[in-house]
Amino acid sequence: MLQVSVEHVSIAYERTTVLKDISFSVEEGDYICVLGENGSGKSTLLKGILGLVPLQEGTVSFHGETERTHVGYLPQQTQTQKDFPASVMEVVLSGCLNSKGKRPFYLRKERETALYNLKRLGIGELKKKSYRNLSGGQQQRVLLARALCATDKIIFLDEPISGLDPVATSEFYQLIEQLNKENHISVVMVSHDVGTALKSANKVLHITREGCFFGSKEEYLQSGLGAEFLHAWNGGETK
Ligand code: ADP
Repeated sequence: MLQVSVEHVSIAYERTTVLKDISFSVEEGDYICVLGENGSGKSTLLKGILGLVPLQEGTVSFHGETERTHVGYLPQQTQTQKDFPASVMEVVLSGCLNSKGKRPFYLRKERETALYNLKRLGIGELKKKSYRNLSGGQQQRVLLARALCATDKIIFLDEPISGLDPVATSEFYQLIEQLNKENHISVVMVSHDVGTALKSANKVLHITREGCFFGSKEEYLQSGLGAEFLHAWNGGETK
């Protein structure tokens, strides 16, 4: 079932176009790996789909039960955000903000959802801890729990494993795969860790300055673009 369709989207910052003519779609259960060189516009595309930056051209449509406000989003983390002075529970609860609206307090149901998602990711015991004192892997799980408070349909992840050690990276990938395969949550993930990310993905969106490739993982791996990108990545020329 179609969840999101992106058609001929271009995005500009102050009249400089950074993304040109991107089209792809998300079907229920997809695991889409978003690839491209640094600065090719991957983060910008996620923000455009979520309505956080305006589109210059094209359309983004949400279908069926999927609404823009019910998409879970795990943005790239800056150093300042890693030092955010709040408890784990407060950070996860903030994922319910779209349903909370202007109400100045959280409902019991929202607290239960937050706790459910913490436990689901194996970190229920961290709920009272200070977010800034957690390890990188724990912080990413907390942010994933936060994203899941907004959705049980689709999550967008922007380089979620960046800065994690190999063990935390592998555990995080397992969690994402579990959410995708067992809970049928669609995944759209920007990752520099191409080889590992591709293992779980069923489709690839590769953004270049000239446009994009979108297709199944098998089609991508057989395409010239896929072979070239993987070769460069294996040789360490591309991150
Ligand atoms: P990627 O995620 O592929 O590394 P980004 O989407 O972060 O790429 O950035 C795409 C281009 O847009 C880059 O050249 C970047 O410098 C520029 N850019 C990103 N955010 C902004 C912004 N808020 N204002 C102006 N330019 C930006």
